[in-house]
Amino acid sequence: MNPAWYDEGVRAIWSPYCQMKTAPAPLAAVATRGTRIILADGRELIDGVASWWSACHGYNHPHLLEQVGRQLAIMPHVMFGGLVHEQACTLARRLLAIAPGKLARVFFSYSGSPAVEVALKMAVQYWKNRGHAGRDRFVCFTDGYHGDTLGAMSVSDPDHSMHRAFRDVVPRQHVVDIPRTCEARQRFASFLDAHGDALAGVIVEPLVQGAGGMRFHDAEALAAIAELTRARGLLFIADEIATGFHRAGPRFACDEAGVAPDILCLGKALTGGVLGLGATLASEQVFDAFLSDDAGAALMHGPTFMANPLACAAANASLDLFEREPRARQVAGIEQTLRAGLEPCRGLPGVVDVRVRGAIGVVQLDPRIHVPALRPRFVAEGAWIRPFGDIVYLAPALVIEPSDLEFLTAAVRRVVALAVK
Ligand code: PMP
Repeated sequence: MNPAWYDEGVRAIWSPYCQMKTAPAPLAAVATRGTRIILADGRELIDGVASWWSACHGYNHPHLLEQVGRQLAIMPHVMFGGLVHEQACTLARRLLAIAPGKLARVFFSYSGSPAVEVALKMAVQYWKNRGHAGRDRFVCFTDGYHGDTLGAMSVSDPDHSMHRAFRDVVPRQHVVDIPRTCEARQRFASFLDAHGDALAGVIVEPLVQGAGGMRFHDAEALAAIAELTRARGLLFIADEIATGFHRAGPRFACDEAGVAPDILCLGKALTGGVLGLGATLASEQVFDAFLSDDAGAALMHGPTFMANPLACAAANASLDLFEREPRARQVAGIEQTLRAGLEPCRGLPGVVDVRVRGAIGVVQLDPRIHVPALRPRFVAEGAWIRPFGDIVYLAPALVIEPSDLEFLTAAVRRVVALAVK
């Protein structure tokens, strides 16, 4: 029995990423607790995807709730034009202290896609302000994903992605394969040389390409991309919205390859999954290119809810937890449990690949299997797992109990075994 608000309310809702004609009705969530989502009918689902990778400390962590509550009583929001506040200043300082490489300034927005839009605008205007107006294209990668807004879609492999409908609408960028071999790296270098005069920079999801298909690459490939890009003076933009804060193992994926981005995008787990916030971090060199006596050289961007104090308070509290609690060790444990629990899928018919990195576990299926149809089966198992494309994946809260994670991997084994029969 659905609650009173449900039937009429659902008819007023347009849900994300689904064909509204055929999609199953969304489930009514009434509460969250730890790594569980509680439904209106009393069922509890163990969350395998941490609300799109954001709820890294689990739901309702008391420290996050308390800090956001404190801020709520003082100042829920204030515009950021001409004003700053303590939560944003503290957070900017703390992010710069832990970010890979040497970044100097933080531009706040309210989610991941706008953080990417800001990065792209920064890169194009960086060149324009330096007198190279024609350097306005980006190199990006096959199976990449950087968000749902127009600029972000343009660098998200628009010929093959879920955003295919917009392939002729978004600006044309250069989509190339991640250079995984020496020969591929030479080709990548030649490509940059051939198009250099028209390029602003290269944007990549370091180590793990997420929503474009959960493909991994190694630190050597990432280091090569960064080096070849920066050696040509092009801007190296790292989108760590999904990989940041230990999701892929190290605190930032760039750390593993020892690479220093010129621009870094953060989001998702930045607030511990409590509120929307995006951050675009820029190097001194990028920032300096906007300093001028010409007002037109300024970065013209300023979303109404940028640097929202509640979101910044949540992010500061989340950073406290990363300092106080053993997240890196927990991720190492999750990685082991994922490997042990998912590896047996490799032998099943219809399974193309099994791969694990940090707190991400992926079972890739034969593309002929309609994986979204598996979603209700996971719910029947008591698990909240959202397969997409040809992928069944787990990206749980970093605090998940081993027994809960084993429950999730067992559900994956059972559902995948039935799916491929
Ligand atoms: N970049 C990456 C790598 C992402 O995974 C996502 C979200 N899936 C985004 C950008 C967009 O973030 P948001 O959904 O918060 O707009």
